[in-house]
Amino acid sequence: MTGRVQDKIALVLGGARGIGAGIAERLAEDGARVVVGDRRAELGEATARRIGGSFVTCDVGEPASIRAAVDDTVARFGRLDILAQNAGIFPMNDIVDIPVEEWDQVLAVNLRGCFVATQAALRHMRKARYGRIILTSSITGPRVVPPGHAHYAASKAGINGFIKAAALENASFGITVNGVEPGNILTEGVQTERSPEYIASMVAAIPMGELGTPRDIGNTVLFLASDEARYITGTTIIVDGGQLLPEGKG
Ligand code: NAP
Repeated sequence: MTGRVQDKIALVLGGARGIGAGIAERLAEDGARVVVGDRRAELGEATARRIGGSFVTCDVGEPASIRAAVDDTVARFGRLDILAQNAGIFPMNDIVDIPVEEWDQVLAVNLRGCFVATQAALRHMRKARYGRIILTSSITGPRVVPPGHAHYAASKAGINGFIKAAALENASFGITVNGVEPGNILTEGVQTERSPEYIASMVAAIPMGELGTPRDIGNTVLFLASDEARYITGTTIIVDGGQLLPEGKG
């Protein structure tokens, strides 16, 4: 099936590469006019060109930058139908070693970024009485956690709580707010931030025997953005190749 988001206006933050590019690509393939927002201008512009969309510079760690990206999208296209806030950072550090600045930065991009982007989008979506907001959470935090991810886990668990609050407050406006919880997805970020040994250990832990792809997450976001998901709000979908299923080792 194609055309599930035909002519919808979509803004994908953190869309230059990795999961965000997968989201942008799937939305564009199904008919949306996609604006890719990212702090990486060159890469973001290339991704936008590849999918037939456009680009806006956006640093999700900076509230003013997020608001400008949302307003710019509305100025260009007259409305915003779909917001996917996917930008996230994932440094690893033992709790006793996490500098407060690093904690703040992870929370600022991953969690506050979702709040500010949602707030900025809602100002337009409420007037239109239509909107689909999809936030990239993670299984890490809400479900499981590896050592070194205290700040990341807190940010992603926070996103799930925020999704419920935002969904409740906006249900009567025709706006749904949902999230996707990726397991381990093979992205540029994972390839540069994680060792081959770590990636191999993840493959071994996944019943389906492989990491997921950005398009696996893009497909889920596309579903949540489509009319087929019109009655779904305040929840998340886990996309992890069965990673959470084993009860124990062996
Ligand atoms: P990625 O390959 O590093 O891509 C993330 C994109 O977002 C990059 O273009 C990145 O730019 C951009 N970005 C980062 N911080 C930003 C900011 N402050 N403002 C604007 N753009 C920013 O990462 P990924 O693996 O695709 O992950 C994307 C999202 O999925 C994150 O929220 C992550 O937590 C979540 N997630 C990923 C996995 C996984 O296994 N990959 C699993 C669960 C959840 P830079 O390159 O400049 O940083």
